[in-house]
Amino acid sequence: MKTCTCHTSPDAHATDAGRRQFLTGTMAAAAAISVAGAGFSVTPANAAVGKGQKKFMEEATALAIESVNKGWGGPFGSVIVKDGEVIGRGQNRVLLTGCPVYHAEITAIIDASAKLNPKGLLGSDYAAGTILEMIPREAGSPDPVPERAKMLKGCEIYINGAPCPMCMSAIYWSRIDHVYFAGSLKDTSAIGFDDNFQYVDFTKPWGERRIGVTEGFERETGLKAYQAWTDKKDRHPY
Ligand SMILES: [Zn+2]
Repeated sequence: MKTCTCHTSPDAHATDAGRRQFLTGTMAAAAAISVAGAGFSVTPANAAVGKGQKKFMEEATALAIESVNKGWGGPFGSVIVKDGEVIGRGQNRVLLTGCPVYHAEITAIIDASAKLNPKGLLGSDYAAGTILEMIPREAGSPDPVPERAKMLKGCEIYINGAPCPMCMSAIYWSRIDHVYFAGSLKDTSAIGFDDNFQYVDFTKPWGERRIGVTEGFERETGLKAYQAWTDKKDRHPY
């Protein structure tokens, strides 16, 4: 069992809940900030920021500072809010875990998803399977299928710095309604993290990217998995 510093009880990892908690953690800094009574509804894009929302950015920032102070990772924290309540928290723990994708937004999404989908596979409970609520596609959507899993639709995410492309993509997958971030990509570059080049690289053809990419390699082999999905009669769309 992996040793970590995020639990006071040595038995905390003995349960599924414990493993899930290790993945995202419930940080002391987060607990120190009350989120009760925030009282705002989901804000549409480009609408004015609600009065109660400042505390969410403060909590995201507190998570980031905790990670810096404890040497767990870079200065990045995030919270996910649904109906004025924080349902997911994350902080960068790349240094603690040695895992390059352990970003604040990713872990906040994992945390929130586990809360909204308690029978999901995150952190085991494997036998129960995953049950995702489905919602119809929005009017005018280019989506080719009539319905999708709800995921984190109806939620907002607060991040103390601009999301990297991986995290922004995770936000798309999550169907989060709105992103609030404080520091810009330029601010992030100024402290030594170059997220911006990935955004630039994504606009280029496969063959011109900074990492070598071979498109269509063993295509027939790979597509056998696609066929398995197509043939699966009880597949759960998402
Ligand atoms: Zn990221």
